[in-house]
Amino acid sequence: MRLKEKQLEQVDAQIKRLIKSGSYFGKMYEEAGITGVSSQEDFEKIPFVDKGALRDAYPLGIQAVPDEEVVRIHSSSGTTGKPVIIPYTKKDVDDWATMFARCYETAGITDRDVVQITPAYGLWTAGIGFQAGCEKLGAMAVPMGPGNTDKQLQMMQDLKSTVICATSSYALLLAEEINRRGLKDNIYLKKGVIGSERWSDKKREYIARELGIELYDIYGLTEIYGPGIGVNCSEETGIHYWDDYIYIEIINPVTGEIVPDGEEGEIVITTLVKEGAPLIRFRTHDISRIIPEKCSCGRDWPRLDIIQGRSDDMFKVHGANMFPSQFEEILGMIDGVSSEYKIDIAHDDEKNRDIIMITVEAEGRVNFEKTAQTVRGLVKSRMSVTPNVVVVSIGTLPRSEKKTQRVFDHRD
Ligand code: ZN
Repeated sequence: MRLKEKQLEQVDAQIKRLIKSGSYFGKMYEEAGITGVSSQEDFEKIPFVDKGALRDAYPLGIQAVPDEEVVRIHSSSGTTGKPVIIPYTKKDVDDWATMFARCYETAGITDRDVVQITPAYGLWTAGIGFQAGCEKLGAMAVPMGPGNTDKQLQMMQDLKSTVICATSSYALLLAEEINRRGLKDNIYLKKGVIGSERWSDKKREYIARELGIELYDIYGLTEIYGPGIGVNCSEETGIHYWDDYIYIEIINPVTGEIVPDGEEGEIVITTLVKEGAPLIRFRTHDISRIIPEKCSCGRDWPRLDIIQGRSDDMFKVHGANMFPSQFEEILGMIDGVSSEYKIDIAHDDEKNRDIIMITVEAEGRVNFEKTAQTVRGLVKSRMSVTPNVVVVSIGTLPRSEKKTQRVFDHRD
């Protein structure tokens, strides 16, 4: 999808402002001789940036406005190395809330709803993003933050929450608890707004069925405002994103070449009106594709397909690239297994080969031995590796309130 005239002007203005500010990226463009853009071809010559650059600029090197204009910072937790700090102006904070309110509206949420927010508050962009959008919409926010399931369930019943905002893992945990405690009749939830993690269809169906709710996936990342730059509509055919705030390209993650609309690759985002820390051609490492057709809901906002995973979640076994989502798809095909799983990878030095072990959960009614065989057969035929499979009872694997780690690599 090419830049529209207005988007091109916005990018041009951002580059000029970055250079004037003398920020980290301003200097980078100046040194590269980039002074602005007047065509798609100019734009495509701008180098990509990634999280490494943001770490280099730690703490506030990417700030592109005077100190007095910054009203807040957020930080993305790096699992490795320095964190990244993103400064926001008043307008940035307001724009983000506007985008998030648009997500709620797309999900059919109104000012009559009671929105229980369980993502974490703090340096994260999670909780506060859900809250600001909720307030902008005019709905009632119940700012719980994560954890304390007893209290969550009590508030959910007493305040008659109609919307739950959560990670998919925590939504699953809540659904299982509501089921276990027999609280279904006291719960008024109609919708779930789920963020921050790729999740399987199986988990999705379980949560939707157990809670009797419609589910909406929020897309976003701290470097680009936070969650709320896109959401799926009730057609559930991809994520509408707000192209008056961001421009999206899909590239081949290996070669960096732009792929045609409809083809899968890495999402690269350019902010169009961000003040505190504009980013041009930021590599997200999220894998998806642009859906070229217009959505049957009638909305004109462009669409991304569901996020397939992260290029950094990719791991290699016997030299072959694998994504956790491929295992999720396989588990989704098998009767009686849950959406939870764990993958351990080790190296057998004696035989000089990688060993992959998959732990899956199954219901008591199915034969564990047979289920293990089915998993092994499907993984072998679809992914060309033969795993060891362990089947355990449902509820054995840890449920977490944050992003669940599923792949454990024990190789040196
Ligand atoms: Zn739609």
